[in-house]
Amino acid sequence: MAKVISMKCMKCGREETPRPDRYTCDTCGIDGILDIIYDYKSTPLTINDLERNPDRSLWRYRCMLPIEAETPVSPLQVGWTPLYKQTRLEREFGLGNVFIKDDGRNPSASLKDRASAIGVAKAIEAKAKAICAASTGNAASSLSAFAASMGIPAYIFVPKRAPRAKVAQLLVYGAHTLLIDSTYDRAFELSVEASRRYGFYSRNCAYNPYLVEGKKTVAYEIWEQLGYKIPDRVYVSIGDGCITAGLYKGFYDLVQIGLSDRLPRIIGVQAAGCNPMEVAMKTGEFKEQTPDTIADSIAVGVPRNRLKALRGLKASAGECISVTDDAIRESLVGMPRVTGVFGEPAAVTAYAGFRKQAHSGVIGNNETVVILITGNGLKDIESALSVCTMPEPIDPTFDAVEKYLR
Ligand SMILES: *Cc1c(COP(=O)(O)O)cnc(C)c1O
Ligand SMILES: [Zn+2]
Repeated sequence: MAKVISMKCMKCGREETPRPDRYTCDTCGIDGILDIIYDYKSTPLTINDLERNPDRSLWRYRCMLPIEAETPVSPLQVGWTPLYKQTRLEREFGLGNVFIKDDGRNPSASLKDRASAIGVAKAIEAKAKAICAASTGNAASSLSAFAASMGIPAYIFVPKRAPRAKVAQLLVYGAHTLLIDSTYDRAFELSVEASRRYGFYSRNCAYNPYLVEGKKTVAYEIWEQLGYKIPDRVYVSIGDGCITAGLYKGFYDLVQIGLSDRLPRIIGVQAAGCNPMEVAMKTGEFKEQTPDTIADSIAVGVPRNRLKALRGLKASAGECISVTDDAIRESLVGMPRVTGVFGEPAAVTAYAGFRKQAHSGVIGNNETVVILITGNGLKDIESALSVCTMPEPIDPTFDAVEKYLR
């Protein structure tokens, strides 16, 4: 296993001794998000081993994850999601190599499962009696599934406007569900307080430093599925910034252990109605916002993992852009009709960001581009239906069929 040396504060640089239930820096408090620091000299990941490894899940990278060798993990199959080549998009934009990584193919239908797999394992290491999370929806449904698979009670804080399918997931998995009559940002604060008062293990990606380590496996997979090559650009939507941070960490690891010699440019995409990261990248200053977007999973006015995400965007020579809700709505149907992949609004935001840059001609035709689809479209069918026209029922006669076809 890759040896964890310390947990280092992103704000003040102070290093803490690793402990499964340490979340933030003692000096900086909640803004002092920690980063897991490895001894890369001891890392055992090799291409030879990968080629011989039959495991088609994120556990094929277990040696790069901060989990003890004997810790039990959930049997749910997470990761090793498909990377599809997009010949239609390549033709449309005159590009050579465009791929979609469909992480909606995970057990609870979002990329959040990569973090929950780790979160539940860490909860077991911490001997926690229960686990809690605040979520715009997907982290919650994901945690509920993983907690159920390991028999750990889950307490979930979600804003009441979370899409119904996501709430349905919480209920069927049997999570204790607190529908908060407020925003995600408020639900987050309440969950942190509940974790503190009742000793619940906190699966808040925005804050628990181990979770980003699960999300980094998506970068390893992209590298491995491209034939051990690093793409030039990766498009990813940004809410709290944990996925962005995870992508960067995965690609960074590969450079540190000598399996790659460069990083891809990470292009973060936000909704124009909630773009605090874009503003922070452009002005160097962070300002809280009140979210106003159809893309609920990235309606985050106070991105908790902004320091880690900003580091990833800057260190990778990336950037953060935004797209309008109209562009997101267009992509809700536009992407499935061109790619066969159905994403929820926050997921197609990355696709809309790709289209925006492809149209403006900033992508070189020899570049390899990956668009990360973070959640399945069935998560939010209200939004999908809002951009489609429901057909009127027709008579069950062949005359009616003929009339329709004419
Ligand atoms: C959580 C989520 C995001 C945003 O990820 P962050 O780590 O919060 O930036 C994007 N898309 C989907 C589908 C999500 O569930
Ligand atoms: Zn600190």
